[in-house]
Amino acid sequence: MRLSAFGEKFSSKSGILQLMDDLGNALAGGGDIAMMGGGNPAHIPEVEEAMRQRLERILNSPEELRRMTGIYDPPQGEKAFIASLAALLNREFGWDLTPENIALTNGSQSAFFLLFNMFAGYGTDGRMRRILLPLAPEYIGYADAGLVPDFFTAVKPKIDYLERPYFKYRVDFEKLVITDDIAALCVSRPTNPTGNVLTDDEVHTLDLMARKAGIPFILDCAYGTPFPDIIFTKASPFWNDNIVMCMSLSKLGLPAARTGIVIARKEIVHALSRMNAIMNLATGSFGAMMAMDLVQTGDIIPLSRDVVKPYYKKRAMEAVALFEEALKGTDYFIHKPEGAIFLWLWFRNLPISSQILYERLKAKGVIVVPGHYFFPGMADDKAWPHREECIRVNYSQAPDLVARGIGIIGEEVHRAYAEA
Ligand code: PLP
Repeated sequence: MRLSAFGEKFSSKSGILQLMDDLGNALAGGGDIAMMGGGNPAHIPEVEEAMRQRLERILNSPEELRRMTGIYDPPQGEKAFIASLAALLNREFGWDLTPENIALTNGSQSAFFLLFNMFAGYGTDGRMRRILLPLAPEYIGYADAGLVPDFFTAVKPKIDYLERPYFKYRVDFEKLVITDDIAALCVSRPTNPTGNVLTDDEVHTLDLMARKAGIPFILDCAYGTPFPDIIFTKASPFWNDNIVMCMSLSKLGLPAARTGIVIARKEIVHALSRMNAIMNLATGSFGAMMAMDLVQTGDIIPLSRDVVKPYYKKRAMEAVALFEEALKGTDYFIHKPEGAIFLWLWFRNLPISSQILYERLKAKGVIVVPGHYFFPGMADDKAWPHREECIRVNYSQAPDLVARGIGIIGEEVHRAYAEA
């Protein structure tokens, strides 16, 4: 089969493909696999009940059922949902949004594809511009989203050693320089894979730097406020018209609905809507209709703050306690869990690569994600051993599976160190 450069690039093996393949096969297979790889959120009973009740109301309303299943939305997304969301964010944070500041996409993953390629790549002036990730490790799903190679550049973080077993990555502002070949900044907050939450100071400084350079600052809030609010530290929400804030309904508990939300200045929202029309005609209505009541009443905020956030915080602490037991005696660290649904483990001076560790764990029925995938834009920094010493673990699936998985990870890590 003869493929175009686009065909070659997008059909080749990518980290995100491996991750989603593992995820789909493990979860669909039903069996006994400890699935701690992909980013599937937990099945939280209160969220599932809210969705069940909402579905029932839709089924009892022929008009709503028709809107959910029988009508193409405009390319910007479901109008009533967008208007309610603008009102909610204005009420909650004192922002000054109108519906023209919000576009929906089929999952925030597709928003990143559109946004990245809208800003970076070859410009009409023939010059190549890149997306700058101020801090790696960063989300694996960005890594292959550029239409051309060499699309990202990233800065190695500073490492703060906290009380054992914790450490925390910080943006290294001394090394962060926005040159004129940078098209936009992008960070996830909370960060996938590490559970890091950039401090307010870090976010403010990045915002100032982006504005000074005249480039947009993409803030990925897939786990952030006001929903799903999986943040365990104090972190203020942040938006202005230079920020492109991306949110999602996935981590609240609706990953199958594929609903992403982009909040940006009007010209960006217009551009995104036009691109959406070409790629998708319209955005799927399912997620917007499912979350409509929660957004209109504002109940999505207490559901996130009082149910979703504490759920993950508790699960994170349980997973840390299990790892402390399972890894005792090894030179391991855990990134301070400040949010999101993962633990990021660092095995200092591990004699095998994280890929080998991943393969050994998979053979034992435990799926994690090897850490080396999470360094997009750092191809030149292969000499940094840290890249090969980390794994990402999703702790949100059934507690007994997670406990078993952590036990097996402990055994394999002990075995690997013993090989040195
Ligand atoms: N951003 C981050 C940081 C993520 O972890 C994910 C999914 O795991 C996404 C974006 C994409 O999520 P979705 O396309 O389900 O909205």
